[in-house]
Amino acid sequence: MKKAILLMVIVSLIIVSFKQKVKSENPLLNDFDTPYGVPPFELIKVRHFKPAFLRGFEEQKKAIHEIITNKEEPTFENTIKALEYSGELLTRTGRIFGSLNSANTNDSLQAVNMEMAPLQSKHRDDINLNDTLFRRIKSVYENMDRFKLTDEEKKILEDTYKGFVRNGAGLSSQNKEKLRKINGELSLLSVRFGQNLLAETNAFKLVIDREEDLAGLPEGAVVQAAAAAENMNLKGKWVFTIQYPIMEPFLKYSERRDLREKLFSAYFMKGDNGNDKDNNEIISKIAKLRVERSILLGYKSYADFALERTMAKTPEKVMDFLGEVWNAALPVAKAEALAQQEIIGKEGGDFKLQPWDWWYYTEKIKKEKYALDDEMIRPYFRTENVIEGMFYVANRLYDLSFTKRSDIPRYHPDVLTFEVTRNNKHVGILMIDNYPRASKRSGAWCGAYRGQSRDINGKMITPVVTMVTNSTPPTADKPSLLTPDEASTLFHEFGHALHQLLSNTTYPGVSGTSVPRDFVELPSQIMEHWVFEPEVLKVYAKHYQTGEVIPAEIIEKLDKASKFNTGFTTVEFLAAAILDMEYHILTEPAEINIREFEKKTLDKYGLIPEIKPRYRSTYFNHIWSSGYASGYYSYYWSEMLDADAFQAFKETGDIFNPVVAARFEKEILSRGGTRDPLDMYIAFRGKEPGIDALLVNRGLK
Ligand SMILES: [Zn+2]
Repeated sequence: MKKAILLMVIVSLIIVSFKQKVKSENPLLNDFDTPYGVPPFELIKVRHFKPAFLRGFEEQKKAIHEIITNKEEPTFENTIKALEYSGELLTRTGRIFGSLNSANTNDSLQAVNMEMAPLQSKHRDDINLNDTLFRRIKSVYENMDRFKLTDEEKKILEDTYKGFVRNGAGLSSQNKEKLRKINGELSLLSVRFGQNLLAETNAFKLVIDREEDLAGLPEGAVVQAAAAAENMNLKGKWVFTIQYPIMEPFLKYSERRDLREKLFSAYFMKGDNGNDKDNNEIISKIAKLRVERSILLGYKSYADFALERTMAKTPEKVMDFLGEVWNAALPVAKAEALAQQEIIGKEGGDFKLQPWDWWYYTEKIKKEKYALDDEMIRPYFRTENVIEGMFYVANRLYDLSFTKRSDIPRYHPDVLTFEVTRNNKHVGILMIDNYPRASKRSGAWCGAYRGQSRDINGKMITPVVTMVTNSTPPTADKPSLLTPDEASTLFHEFGHALHQLLSNTTYPGVSGTSVPRDFVELPSQIMEHWVFEPEVLKVYAKHYQTGEVIPAEIIEKLDKASKFNTGFTTVEFLAAAILDMEYHILTEPAEINIREFEKKTLDKYGLIPEIKPRYRSTYFNHIWSSGYASGYYSYYWSEMLDADAFQAFKETGDIFNPVVAARFEKEILSRGGTRDPLDMYIAFRGKEPGIDALLVNRGLK
């Protein structure tokens, strides 16, 4: 499945240089004296962030003041470009803080987040609602033809102008005040949602003290649970948590139905327990405020507002798309449920299939049908080998080389750092951070400590990219061995990383992954097509003990198995995507009862009770706290794109076809957000994408 990427809020408003004459004791205020602009992690302390943010606000304010007091007529150079390059310190600080707060957080970092979130929101509003600034931008926009602009500059001008309008620049001062208040409240609520979720995820532990209660579990899971227990001073017992990679094997293999229920119920009740970490009221408030905000800005609903600048553009188009896939997948999911119920009957079980049974019986059927289970496959997917495999693919497609560097600062000992080069020329830095820990939020994502761009004098700034996952960690006697899903996730995040690394734009605001949400998953998801290609598996999927290449029959079974259970995975995902849309097409700003709303909505679409949405409302981090509101559909939308785009390689009979790869880099990966996404896609593919390849790939057609 597709993971969240940390779409670092692309502060579209950037920077003027902040040369420090005197070195500060605060490393965040100095030029980084490190290779390739990697942050000096070992010097950065929590207490350094607040002053860096405050100084960042101040510097950008000063830069904006210079723009608006400029006596000359507004031009692209003195207004748009100046704005693009204002706020360098703030952007850099925000990127470092955001990345660390997701990958390696602690209570004091979270406290800084609570304190800074409303200030950041206020600062953005101060810029976005500045009348004088807006008048200058509007003037440049309306006189666009008078300036000799590149296509990239025209796109930035349009993005900037529309961005201001969408942020309320055209509003009366009274409405602007309202907007500011709503923005401040929303940002606080989002932070609180995320903190509750992390606390709820960490709070639950299933402690097992009798060995017989471990029945069915693979050795790896047991060893890990014993180690987890020891860490909690529960030596001799076993601890399972509701972190997904810990919970999933338990759901697949545990023969103890009651314990599966206990664990999975704790998972799907996260944030919905009526305690002080309950998220219901927070969500209800967020949904209401979003409607209010959208109406204030002249939109019917939040979805209308959010989709305007995407590839899909309207809620109707998204709902049609989701409906089409839903209708293809629901009957398949129902048939899958039936097949499981049959097995339950055959085994003499006298109960109805429940959500916590799905993984268990699916695994049984899969084993029977394909004689294949994750534990048989894991030995071939050692993390180090999978990483080697994805580097191989990047080398064949884009001629990139990766060299491990241990002389570059890291924020945690788990981080692996690589220098990326092409023809011996430095391209960027890639950090990979693989294993779960309490300080890391769940899921997987990719971000950048420094994005690619050219500085105000045209000098190339190379990217410092970070990809973070929560995959199966090594144990005392075994290396990290991945499930096929986890291997896909690595390739997926690596695709985002390539989008950052191969970015070749001028302006920072449109570089790398600064593209609409329903386009951003194309570069990542297309990478997943190479993971299980026999030609690629031969290179990296080697048994960690014997070095034997994964046998051809396993590969074939893997392929067949990849179309197995797709009714479930599609419906599980779409149920969440539909929830997302239904919350955001609301046109009345009213607080709603979340539990009722969720149930009513899912009933309306006929979701079967054996399946829970991939995310229920109270832990749907994507839409309440990380920028994917009205955007969760975009993973499948992008899947339509990636399925269709991979066909471009397949059609030539060569999955490494250099001409197609070069075109993919030129028209998509290198361009960041410098063009309309549909135009980029057509430039690559020669035509618009269709839904067929997606349905065929999923075995739904
Ligand atoms: Zn992604």
